[in-house]
Amino acid sequence: MKKQDILQEDTQRTKGLDARESNIQAAIALADILKTTLGPQGLDKMLIDSMGDSIVTNDGVKILKEMEIEHPGAKILVDVAKTQESQVGDGTTTAVLLAGELLKKSKELLAQNIHPNLIAKGYKEVSLKTLTLLNSISQDVKTNNKKLIEDIAKTAMTGKIAELNMEKLSSILFEITQILKTENSLSINKLKIQKIPGSLEESELIQGIVLDKNPAHSNMVKTLKNPNILLVDFALEIQEIEADAKVNINSLQEYEQFIESEKKYLKNLVLKIKETGANFIVCQKGIDDSVAYFLAKEGILASRRTRKSDLEKLSLALKTPIVSSYEDVNKENLGTCVLVQVKEIENEQYIFVENTPNKQTLTLLLKASTKHVRDELERAIEDALGDLNSIMKSKKIVAGGGAIECELVKELQKELKYLTGKEELIAKAFTESLLIIPKTLCQNSGFDEIEILSKLQKEHENGNSNSGINGFKGIVKDTLKESIIEPINVKEQAILSATEATCMILRIDDIIAARKLDKSHEFKGDF
Ligand code: ADP
Ligand code: MG
Repeated sequence: MKKQDILQEDTQRTKGLDARESNIQAAIALADILKTTLGPQGLDKMLIDSMGDSIVTNDGVKILKEMEIEHPGAKILVDVAKTQESQVGDGTTTAVLLAGELLKKSKELLAQNIHPNLIAKGYKEVSLKTLTLLNSISQDVKTNNKKLIEDIAKTAMTGKIAELNMEKLSSILFEITQILKTENSLSINKLKIQKIPGSLEESELIQGIVLDKNPAHSNMVKTLKNPNILLVDFALEIQEIEADAKVNINSLQEYEQFIESEKKYLKNLVLKIKETGANFIVCQKGIDDSVAYFLAKEGILASRRTRKSDLEKLSLALKTPIVSSYEDVNKENLGTCVLVQVKEIENEQYIFVENTPNKQTLTLLLKASTKHVRDELERAIEDALGDLNSIMKSKKIVAGGGAIECELVKELQKELKYLTGKEELIAKAFTESLLIIPKTLCQNSGFDEIEILSKLQKEHENGNSNSGINGFKGIVKDTLKESIIEPINVKEQAILSATEATCMILRIDDIIAARKLDKSHEFKGDF
């Protein structure tokens, strides 16, 4: 029996060189797409989804997520970006570009008849050496150093948005780190980013949680000092009877009885809430209009359909549980804070829950003019927070602007001098791949790549280990002094996952693709 016979008809199979070639080609093509977004002068991509909605972004992982990539080889690179995002929160483009370059170089090695397994093994070994060197080159820092923290935040946000007021945001980010830092991380789950129309200069940090919610009724009280707050995640309304609900109703009379009993339950519930003395209710589900009217009349403020994540943050902020049933509505489960205020900003209402008992819960009110800018700003801040979280963990930094990559290349060349033959070629390919970062930074800033790169390498030969590119000035300088600083973890993770993905792609010699389901034939007995 031929191997092919064991597969279903219509299964597509690509083998050997073709399979590897196809994966490598697709991954390189994907990396090339991201290339122009790297660094301070990186350009943006406009992505339009099938509904016609558009986003403009410079963020590697966001671009890849929106692109609906089909090719299996390219998908491996999407995973590289996703891993980088989840492990570090920044450096997604760096990781993908590095993987793309490693693959480009491995194509040349394959063309010289070097076995893919040997390439993968060599890459892995050199990557481990690179990580050790990275560690020894990095510098230890203190996490309460304001200028340093602000510089790391600025390096992460540079190039994301033209109108960015870096001073303002980086100083807020420093404040956040000092409040949310623990022994070796940042409690990012205690921070809410609330985007609001306005000017960036007016962005501010609030101690407490800001809800983007109207009060459930327009006549509700707008200001409460030291309120009694009840957090609930069940509905304060008559539940709709769903088609598959287990309620046996056989007549109109039974239906009316059912509604009556639901109304009675609601009435009792509202009276019970009132008895506890609660005057601010935050509800994850719906609140019936009649209930909202009653609450308003009783001087009780309420927010309905509040996001689960907001309710959880409020629970942390108030050190109060979220109540899930009628039985648990009682005084013991009420929380308080100094002030609750309904504020109107640009025709939208927000509920500010301020000065909460847990001082470590914060809302960053992120103000900017348009939705596009607000969204991209949020992504830039998330990158910065990722870097700041990393620095709390490792407490180690490296010089940005391509400096660390150049230094690694110099050190690797020294260490790997003893290699010969195929091993030497593989090690050289890996080492040179690191230069894709300074090269791309040069290209994107419109500088003369050859001139700057040779100058850079000379500087490193002369012992100036922090020499890198200032992407705005086009000069080779000590980038630590130029305040272009990154946490070690960004580079560590990028090298790790780029190498892993490259080795994985190199080892694949067979792509077996099942027949795609033709949706028009689904459920028509057409099997
Ligand atoms: P990534 O998704 O990899 O984080 P970015 O677009 O954020 O991609 O670019 C990060 C790269 O830009 C890093 O190598 C960083 O050192 C570099 N960089 C940041 N600011 C500057 C600057 N002012 N000059 C030169 N390089 C910079
Ligand atoms: Mg970045």
